Amino acid sequence: MILPKPPFEGSCLCGSVQVSVTAPALLTLACHCRDCQKLCASAYSLTTMFPSASFSYKGELVKGGLGSSGRTHYFCKSCLNFVFSQIGGADQRINLRTSVLNEAASFEPFVEVMTDEKVPWAKVPAVHSFPRYPETLENLQALMDEYSAR
Ligand SMILES: [Zn+2]
Ligand SMILES: [Zn+2]
Repeated sequence: MILPKPPFEGSCLCGSVQVSVTAPALLTLACHCRDCQKLCASAYSLTTMFPSASFSYKGELVKGGLGSSGRTHYFCKSCLNFVFSQIGGADQRINLRTSVLNEAASFEPFVEVMTDEKVPWAKVPAVHSFPRYPETLENLQALMDEYSAR
């Protein structure tokens, strides 16, 4: 797998939100949890993590999803396309929805999580699979190190 090189550009479905990223991706994930299935109207969600400082956007966003503690999900105000999430306590990273990136196809999921809730026919070419989530921040860091070494 050849990792794409920054900068990266992308947009929501209607184009009124434009995103840009100046740093390489930290990690790519697929999440099979039921919440992601519903939130993304799909079998699983696709996330590409970037350093927050490397990420910027233009356009108007609204918050959506469950509004649960510590997780904020941002959507285009016009087309309501899911754009990115911010996880409380992890302000240094943003979880961009891989599908908004122009080069989405290059961000193959390296890790899949929550396979406990996976639909049986969903197949993801992930290198690492977790029944739930990586247990510790050290586990997550090790995955990011392995991903960026590729
Ligand atoms: Zn839009
Ligand atoms: Zn999920």
